[in-house]
Amino acid sequence: MSDGAILVVGGGPAGLSAAHALVATGRPVLLVDKAGRLGGAPILSGYAKLVPSGEWARDAIGGMVARVQSHPRIEVLTDTRVTGFRGTPGAFEVTLSDGRTRRAGAAILCTGFTHFDSVNKPEWGFGTYPDVVTTTQVEQMLSSGRGIHCPSDGRAPERVAILLCVGSRDRQIGREWCSKICCTVSANIAMEIREALPQCSVYIYYMDIRTFGLYEDKYYWQSQEEYRVKYIKARIAEVTSDGRRLVLKGEDTLVKRPITIPFDLVVHAIGMDPNVDNREIAATFGVALERHGYLQKAPSYAGSGMTDRAGVFVAGAATGPETIDDSIAQGQAAAIAALAGAQRTAAIA
Ligand SMILES: Cc1cc2nc3c(=O)[nH]c(=O)nc-3n(C[C@H](O)[C@H](O)[C@H](O)COP(=O)(O)OP(=O)(O)OC[C@H]3O[C@@H](n4cnc5c(N)ncnc54)[C@H](O)[C@@H]3O)c2cc1C
Ligand code: SF4
Repeated sequence: MSDGAILVVGGGPAGLSAAHALVATGRPVLLVDKAGRLGGAPILSGYAKLVPSGEWARDAIGGMVARVQSHPRIEVLTDTRVTGFRGTPGAFEVTLSDGRTRRAGAAILCTGFTHFDSVNKPEWGFGTYPDVVTTTQVEQMLSSGRGIHCPSDGRAPERVAILLCVGSRDRQIGREWCSKICCTVSANIAMEIREALPQCSVYIYYMDIRTFGLYEDKYYWQSQEEYRVKYIKARIAEVTSDGRRLVLKGEDTLVKRPITIPFDLVVHAIGMDPNVDNREIAATFGVALERHGYLQKAPSYAGSGMTDRAGVFVAGAATGPETIDDSIAQGQAAAIAALAGAQRTAAIA
């Protein structure tokens, strides 16, 4: 690998797209990921059909992985971290977790996010009742071909509740952000459940619905009008069990009445936390964190994906909750910025 290589850290949608864009211009890439395989959250967490394309994650993101892995000018190092990063744009020295060192002209941090751990909302039953699951678990049920079932005994549920904003928009637990994609993902999952189990009733409990842009029609309205998914504006107090079924308690905030409703399966639509490694990544690369703990990026007006360190760029969910499409676009934009910025001084205004 020549001195002209650009280091890409993280091989999810953002990093895969950045690496592909860089080699398309003839620049070699060193792609490092701490996981044992590439693909980021959609592959590592076994997502099923993606929104909005409807493609299986293993095909869509798997295709991006194959394209990168087969490219002769991309060196892929999995099970590897960056432990040291010294130098200046055009001449950085990279120390890897196995002790080896490499040269790089610039770096793009595509280290993504960490799924919210639902045990941090104990009142909503996760970790206590096996039939309280997360959207990632439902994605895995669908992508593995096992189908939607209650983990306690394997039965097909007759009543499913999906709780939105679990680990997002929740100031009590220090997570003030909206995770952007979980309303749409939940509407999509609800339709998939209705399609697979037509006798099953699916309810979505929400604060607000944020199926932004064109998703309003394709997911919000379609899920109600075609798939008969029911949306209830509510504040959920707790999820318990009567010994036979789960019991959801709270308040219907439209009619202002208490509700107590039985379900077979309760799904937490979990949010996107800052990557648990972000402090370490920020220290290694000498870049700043924004106040929630995501990697700080400069305003985009002068150039995309800049950090406060010259020659170090950032893209995707490392900077805050992002969709796959936007992560891919940011990866490409950061690649262009890195090509130019390997010589230029970047600064946060
Ligand atoms: C349940 C759920 C379903 C979703 N479904 C959709 C969907 O259908 N459509 C959609 O648009 N979005 C969806 N999303 C959002 C989607 O997961 C993100 O947009 C996407 O994964 C962001 O890509 P990324 O490359 O920025 O980060 P990630 O996918 O998080 O990839 C980051 C990569 O960096 C690596 N890494 C992390 N830390 C380090 C480190 N210290 N050193 C080296 N490597 C590191 C990781 O191993 C990983 O491979 C969903 C999110 C959730 C929670
Ligand atoms: S996208 Fe929807 S479920 Fe996700 S945090 Fe925002 S409002 Fe809540």
